[in-house]
Amino acid sequence: MQLTTNFSKEELERSSMAIKYDLDNSIPSHLQGNAYRLAEWLQVLRDRLKQHFGKDVPIVVSSAYRSPALNAKVRGSATSAHIECLAADIKAIGLSVPSLWNFIRENMADVGYDQNIEEHQSWVHIGLSSTRKRRQDLIARREHGETVYRRA
Ligand SMILES: [Zn+2]
Repeated sequence: MQLTTNFSKEELERSSMAIKYDLDNSIPSHLQGNAYRLAEWLQVLRDRLKQHFGKDVPIVVSSAYRSPALNAKVRGSATSAHIECLAADIKAIGLSVPSLWNFIRENMADVGYDQNIEEHQSWVHIGLSSTRKRRQDLIARREHGETVYRRA
């Protein structure tokens, strides 16, 4: 089901880990509103990338919604916004991960977000929240086996 021009419900449910462990990762009906909110946020980002670069810059969602079972499997935080379908791990085709993170920082403040995290130069975690709009811009790195978060 298409939620916005470029984002579908299926795209927010898709997870290689859910497939691997045969877990049902369908977005439950009570989180449908959050799914729309997340898709609309991603659509604004995609539209602004296109406007800025003068061409389509597709966004790849590697993980958005996580059922509680999937979240446990990937050892996600118990309070993760992924469980509420308010977070997405993304990349943009043709753009480095730090550049995407920086673009969000500089161009999405008016739309608002809770967390914009550049994770290990591998993906950007964008977290919305039903209650918070802290607009935290963080960089995550592995140091001595632990993930350390630094403020921009
Ligand atoms: Zn994430």
